[in-house]
Amino acid sequence: MKHLRLRQDLIATARRMNALGINQGTSGNVSARIAGGLMITPSGVAYEAMTPADLVEMGFDGAWRCPRAERRPSSEWRFHLDILRARPEFGAVVHSHATNATALACLGWEIPAFHYMVAVAGGDSIRCAPYATFGSADLSEHALAALEDRRACLLANHGLIAAGADLAAALGLAVEVECLAAQYCRALQLGEPKLLSKAEMKRVLAKFGAGYGYASDPDAQKTIKTYRSRRSS
Ligand code: 13P
Ligand code: ZN
Repeated sequence: MKHLRLRQDLIATARRMNALGINQGTSGNVSARIAGGLMITPSGVAYEAMTPADLVEMGFDGAWRCPRAERRPSSEWRFHLDILRARPEFGAVVHSHATNATALACLGWEIPAFHYMVAVAGGDSIRCAPYATFGSADLSEHALAALEDRRACLLANHGLIAAGADLAAALGLAVEVECLAAQYCRALQLGEPKLLSKAEMKRVLAKFGAGYGYASDPDAQKTIKTYRSRRSS
């Protein structure tokens, strides 16, 4: 089967998303760049039951095909396609309904510079895209705007998007965003988090360098392990 390895990697990424606790059920979706388009998870299929033939190949023109006739591309194919088409630096996109990120997104809140690691998403905040119906062109437009100069964003009343050079990078960033969201929620319970200044975040971003973090990390799994141990401690 064409792109067999990539299909397997997409399934493994989707399963890991749930195993790590940053998504649940058939929520969320994952895509990766191929020549002229993308490979994406099908709509509404349990990740545990998913096989390589369930993955859907799409062109940037929106045309798609799948070895299994009954499958359809993820309902969120628009933003996956639009992000990969508009942002050549990305090779993969992860969307999840992570609990803490979604809680903040339900208030329409961004994640401000309460912690220096917010810079891992590329800027001094992780924006929250305004609400639009799932799968809509409006949602894609809002997501693209929220991702300007960023690798991740929240989606109001919905979840998060993280993008990266490859699947491991995108998943690692999704984990990091959820971890930051959890820390921010916890800090808000204690009081009013002190935010870092624009000047300090500029310093942090410069220190990270353009390629810091998951965009260039060949082994983002390290971050996932860290998340596991943080969660279990
Ligand atoms: P799909 O199963 O169609 O990918 O939808 C899940 C989702 O998260 C929609 O926003
Ligand atoms: Zn969703």
